[in-house]
Amino acid sequence: MRNHNFSAGPAALPTPVLEKAQAELLDWQSRGVSVMEISHRSQPFLDIIHKAEADLRQLMSIPDKYAVIFTQGGASLQFSTLYMNLVAGTQTPDYIVNGVWGKKAVQEAQLLGRGRVLASSEQSGFHSVPDFNVADIPDDSAYLHITPNETINGVAFDHIPSLKVPLIADVSSSILSEVIDINDYSMLYAGAQKNIGPAGLTLLIIRKDLLQRCPDNIPSTLNYLKLFQAESLLNTPSSFAIYLAGLVFEWLIDQGGVQAMEELNNKKAQLLYSAIDGSDFYHNPVEKRYRSKMNIPFTLAQAELDPLFLEQAEKQGLLALKGHRISGGMRASIYNAVPYASVEALVNFMQEFEQQYG
Ligand code: PMP
Repeated sequence: MRNHNFSAGPAALPTPVLEKAQAELLDWQSRGVSVMEISHRSQPFLDIIHKAEADLRQLMSIPDKYAVIFTQGGASLQFSTLYMNLVAGTQTPDYIVNGVWGKKAVQEAQLLGRGRVLASSEQSGFHSVPDFNVADIPDDSAYLHITPNETINGVAFDHIPSLKVPLIADVSSSILSEVIDINDYSMLYAGAQKNIGPAGLTLLIIRKDLLQRCPDNIPSTLNYLKLFQAESLLNTPSSFAIYLAGLVFEWLIDQGGVQAMEELNNKKAQLLYSAIDGSDFYHNPVEKRYRSKMNIPFTLAQAELDPLFLEQAEKQGLLALKGHRISGGMRASIYNAVPYASVEALVNFMQEFEQQYG
């Protein structure tokens, strides 16, 4: 029996993907071994990684002028490697901060030298994307970094700015959930463990001309140009995670691609937000136009009921609803692999709970 999994990450994976991986685990392609046990330089593995990249390019309409790199270290390591690779000379990277992850990103840049916050909504509790004017970006800017979907705060950009400097986006919790135009960005990156596959894999999509900025004197395994030139095989990659991500991409194509996912994700989010807004017992603090469709935090009218809510939810197979330790309350993460039926089950439970204790 599979439970309803609202985990923020590592998060739910599509059941058919896990079933396929299970069926192939001991004996993949009648080779008598699993994918985990073959060389990353063998042709069968090269076929896996090439197919994964091709399917991703198809799903996201990624033009040839962008490199796709499979690497490791999580999105957090990218907070630093971005700086190492793309900040030249006296340039400074700029940040718009609409939540906890964007704040961490700028702090990591500052550890290495410089990181400038152009606008932040921290003062008002990260309940919105701060107002900003792209004309305010200084001339010495290396790039502008944004987090289109803030996983902890449930705050999402409602439009993507067009800029004169490279735009870099941490799309860890929104990649593949809605149609985007890659051409709006110079670089996207994401930890895999939400909408891509298992933890241990990090995805970079970067305009190839930017790779000219990568200096030679940084560790090779962190150097975007070298990773690209080695076709993501500079050293041993997270091969099983890449295989599973490939299965997720195949599953997404079978579902009708990102457009179909976006439509379903809109319906899921609408169902949950209407349940929250239609009640005096539940509350979501985010300004409506900036509400995330992937991560929906909410509080109960009486916080002392939180443990009971979580306990009873879990008994009904509704898992991982506890909010992030920083923000408290509840949070439902409803990524691509979370079915509409899971959101229905959550909403039914919330209504029953309110009737009993509200
Ligand atoms: N950025 C965002 C938007 C995230 O949601 C997360 C993880 N929840 C991270 C960065 C950090 O990712 P990782 O654990 O892969 O370093």
